[in-house]
Amino acid sequence: MSMSLSNESRQLMTELQSLGLRLLDPKAGASSRRGGAGPSDHKAVTIDGHTIMVPVHTSTAWNSPFVADTPDAHGQSALRRGAIPIAQIAFPKQPRFYAMQTLDGVPYSHIATLHGADVLATTVLQTCIRYESRSKACQFCAIGQSLAAGRTITHKTPQQLAEVARAAVLLDGVKHMVLTTGTPPGDDRGAAVLAESAIAIKAAVDLPLQGQCEPPDSDQWFERMRSAGIDTLGMHLELVNPILRKRIMPGKATVPVERYLTAFESAVRTFGRGQVSTYLLAGLGDTREEILALCERLIAIGVYPFVVPFVPISGTPLEDHPAPDADWMKSILAPLGGMLSRAGLRSKDMKAGCGKCAACSSLSQYES
Ligand code: SF4
Repeated sequence: MSMSLSNESRQLMTELQSLGLRLLDPKAGASSRRGGAGPSDHKAVTIDGHTIMVPVHTSTAWNSPFVADTPDAHGQSALRRGAIPIAQIAFPKQPRFYAMQTLDGVPYSHIATLHGADVLATTVLQTCIRYESRSKACQFCAIGQSLAAGRTITHKTPQQLAEVARAAVLLDGVKHMVLTTGTPPGDDRGAAVLAESAIAIKAAVDLPLQGQCEPPDSDQWFERMRSAGIDTLGMHLELVNPILRKRIMPGKATVPVERYLTAFESAVRTFGRGQVSTYLLAGLGDTREEILALCERLIAIGVYPFVVPFVPISGTPLEDHPAPDADWMKSILAPLGGMLSRAGLRSKDMKAGCGKCAACSSLSQYES
């Protein structure tokens, strides 16, 4: 994701991610992410050679002015704004590894999925201590939905992950892998299960890995994850303002922003500058100034702040919360892109993970 695009394409990406897309053929392209941990209800769409995730199953998307025609035999489709054709887009094909299953009959697609164009992603533990009750759960998250719908399994074993990762590299050419997890009980916050998964995957295939978890209670886990084969680390703040954090993610907010910042300092010493990242969901109430001020602190530490437009996921308490306005997103992403470029922290220099994949936000398009 390195070459930069015309202003027009960049603007279109930012708008598509805010407004969503209606599909004349809902089956176009690879099956989309519905439910699951973190941002979801997207479909991968390629514009000008760049693949981004665009909301398609949300209520915002149903009212979007953007419509994609039924794709032709090559997966190419005309994108229209209202009645006017404005661009040619493509839908990445269903990956070949989706057709396979383990010896004990688990479809590979229940173990890991293709994100963007070339990223393999999995939620190692599909349960979360934060998700046990409405009063603690993050209101934007749907980690239990895909499990309830039988589209995934509770715990992906290291062997299963290794098997699927190898197939996804050989059959579909995936370039890196994201291992996220619901937060288990215990002080490591998921670091242990990420480390054991990474050891098995790295033994099976040479694939850069990103681990994603809450800050573990002991910073020693960073070294352990690194030596297990995790190349980059994501610890996701999601929101900035403490009052908002408490309201929208009461369980997760018990770990304050300040603890994240000390954990980031320690993690950057282990993984390196620009190899630690965080996810920030824009559009849930944090102001532009709050987001940019925190990003400045993160960048000074060496952390890549991946600011992503909030996508309301069906079935979550925030399903009717509007997605952020494209101009407002641009007013954050444009200065942030400049800050990142000046600091030398770039999406393309990350070894693995969401910041590198860059499909959930047009941020990387604003880095020069
Ligand atoms: S940015 Fe992260 S969550 Fe989004 S598609 Fe890429 S790997 Fe998946």
